[in-house]
Amino acid sequence: MPSEAAQLPFTARCYCGASRLRLSQAPLTAAFCHCRDCRRWTGAPIGAFAAFDDAALSVDPPLGAGVSLTPGVRRWNCPTCGSPLAARFDYLPDQVYIPLGILDQADQIAPQSHSHAAAALPWLHLSDTLPRDASSARERLNASRKDF
Ligand SMILES: [Zn+2]
Ligand SMILES: [Zn+2]
Repeated sequence: MPSEAAQLPFTARCYCGASRLRLSQAPLTAAFCHCRDCRRWTGAPIGAFAAFDDAALSVDPPLGAGVSLTPGVRRWNCPTCGSPLAARFDYLPDQVYIPLGILDQADQIAPQSHSHAAAALPWLHLSDTLPRDASSARERLNASRKDF
């Protein structure tokens, strides 16, 4: 993961195009997140994110201060249109999480697990057989860097 056909760099942009991201390395992993914060932040019934090494990310214009409403969690949005751009979690050191929906190569980055599955909306039915973690899945996500 991702598929062997994936070409670097990976690229992403916000809804309006004012914020552009470039990832110089393949993702470490990708995951769905069902938590309420990710739902509110993305506006979607489920979040889906690709995890990259922090050093692989460059953003034009550079990310500002972002917003931190929960200790250890910081999220950045496009200053013009508000699209979610990136999130960092202290318990997932040296990783940055990019919403799959803004990545130009989202079709090549399949989620590998579900985080916060216990918070999933009751009417959301996904038929995949991926591992489902009731909470943050931090062990699985931190371990991902050993696999790729
Ligand atoms: Zn924008
Ligand atoms: Zn979440």
